[in-house]
Amino acid sequence: MAAERILIVENNTESRKHLAELFSAQGYAVQTAADGATALERIHSTPPDLMLLAMPLPEMDGLDLLHALNEQGLLPPFIFMAAHGSEALAEQVTCLGARAYLRKPYQPDTLLALVERILAETRLRAERDRLARELERARQTLQWQLQELNALFTVGKSVTATPDLEQALLRVVEAAVYLSRAEEGSLMLLDAKTGELYLRAAKNIDQTTAQGMRVSVTDSLAGRVIRTGRPVMLTGAGLKKVSTAYLAKSLLMVPLRTPERGVTGLLMVVNRQSERPFDESDLHLLSAMADYAAVAIENAALLTNLQTEKRKLETILRETRDAVLVIDPQGDILLCNPAACQALELGDRWAGQPATEAIRNADLLDLLDHLQRPDVPLQTEVTLADGRILNAHASPIEGVGTVIVMQDITYLKELERVKSEFIATVSHDLRTPLTAIQGYIDLLPRVGPLTEQQREFITRLQRSLSSVTQLVTDLLEIGRVEVGFDLEMSQVDLGALINEAVAELRPEADAKRQHLQVNVPVDLEPITGNPRRLRQVIVNLVSNAVKYTPENGHITVSVAESQEHVSISVTDDGIGIPLADQPFIFDKFFRVDSPETRDIPGTGLGLSIVKSIVEKHRGRVWVESTPGQGSTFTVLLPK
Ligand code: ADP
Repeated sequence: MAAERILIVENNTESRKHLAELFSAQGYAVQTAADGATALERIHSTPPDLMLLAMPLPEMDGLDLLHALNEQGLLPPFIFMAAHGSEALAEQVTCLGARAYLRKPYQPDTLLALVERILAETRLRAERDRLARELERARQTLQWQLQELNALFTVGKSVTATPDLEQALLRVVEAAVYLSRAEEGSLMLLDAKTGELYLRAAKNIDQTTAQGMRVSVTDSLAGRVIRTGRPVMLTGAGLKKVSTAYLAKSLLMVPLRTPERGVTGLLMVVNRQSERPFDESDLHLLSAMADYAAVAIENAALLTNLQTEKRKLETILRETRDAVLVIDPQGDILLCNPAACQALELGDRWAGQPATEAIRNADLLDLLDHLQRPDVPLQTEVTLADGRILNAHASPIEGVGTVIVMQDITYLKELERVKSEFIATVSHDLRTPLTAIQGYIDLLPRVGPLTEQQREFITRLQRSLSSVTQLVTDLLEIGRVEVGFDLEMSQVDLGALINEAVAELRPEADAKRQHLQVNVPVDLEPITGNPRRLRQVIVNLVSNAVKYTPENGHITVSVAESQEHVSISVTDDGIGIPLADQPFIFDKFFRVDSPETRDIPGTGLGLSIVKSIVEKHRGRVWVESTPGQGSTFTVLLPK
């Protein structure tokens, strides 16, 4: 620490010298003055930390000196020293702020102690003042930072809240100008078509300048920000070096960046009058503002996209002839397009209504009842009051609920009816000649001895005849099921029925050394159904399992029941069904075309018979299968 300065103002040469020596010896920086004028001069050039003022002085009186210093605001802390009997003077001097009054002759030790005490006080006071100033500075910085934060927060909030992009961008530019204490600001965006930057929002820029503001990306300072993606911060001298086009004293440009499209524009603040340069903190603030602007632009683009998509979707839903119904996870109607409202006679007060209350159609209510299993897409035929038939398909959609799309299939049903009738007639008529052919084939060996070749031909004939007969039988069967023949319902002991059907197929399974197992609960309740048809279901599923499972495979038929349903599943570890074929395997005549299935005989009608029978029982059938691992066919029947 530099030595503290003491100014000794003393007329008496002897005393002055003595005092100077006394204080110099203590390490103080001592100055002396023998009269008031010199003292004034000294104080002017180097203000002391303490003044020792001895009275009287020649020419300018000590009091005059004090008054003069006081007026000029230069009065240092001082100790007043006077001869005995100057009490009145001492009083006056004390009023002027003397720290102490010392009567001559003084004790050097007393004087030293006094000086040290006063200087210590002064030091403390100076330290306190410095701390107070620092505190004030910190307070001001804090207040400004608070204002900055506030502005950032307000802008952030309003940018995300307002759907009006114009407003949002203007707020960003205004905040940028305010926070960087700039004179003007602007936000420019890149026109992807022309490759130019155009002004999108501005603060303190007049209309004409604003409208004409278009700059090329290739040869401008702004373009440099776009090309490099880095900010530019320049003051007067730096600016002159770069471009004369900016009549500015300082400027700051930061890029506007979006995660998807990279740098799409820039935010800029400019000082044209003020010399104040921008600094790192301005850069941070402006970058934050640019991020807000980018968010606002991205939000606006998303919103526009969303609205366009929404309009498209609304048009599709309005115009489509398919009926579309969306039900939320709570079971309330979320959406019903005009076709659905008309078909289900829902009027226009469906929104938010519980679907099971608003909908009266029994078929659809039945479908809704089955929505409990969200992983299984459900499908049913819905007959409307006006006789039309719709094919309803329900699909669960995560986070939305269930979408039910219904297509008018009335004409298809009619076509199917005509076709079934035709097939039934034709197959019935085919049966008689087929029986005759079979009869004659059986007779052939009895007519006379046959050659080896004739026997071979007869075997081939027999094989072809049996597959045609199987086809005709299946066709007749499906025709009968579809029309509803042989569908008298009674109480059925499902366990016994399954065991019988499996027993019938066991020889086939044994021939392939397959493990055929049945798991039926002993106390299974009887269900209402047609025993002949249900047996057919089991036979078809199990015979498929046997056919499409290689030797030594495993086949299990199991039954489970709940309060309302019985489910029968036939599981095998056979060849499985390719995913792409799974939606079609219940269609008539559909057969998987693969090297593994090519040599296995079949008509492609077995599963469609199963489906028809199950549906006649108001049940459902579906398959879960993994190629190469096996399949499980499940039949769900209401009790
Ligand atoms: P098919 O008379 O050809 O067996 P289905 O209607 O019974 O006719 O079955 C249709 C097709 O589904 C079959 O051709 C076969 O490709 C496939 N399929 C049926 N059941 C199984 C099964 N358990 N494992 C593998 N594929 C099967």
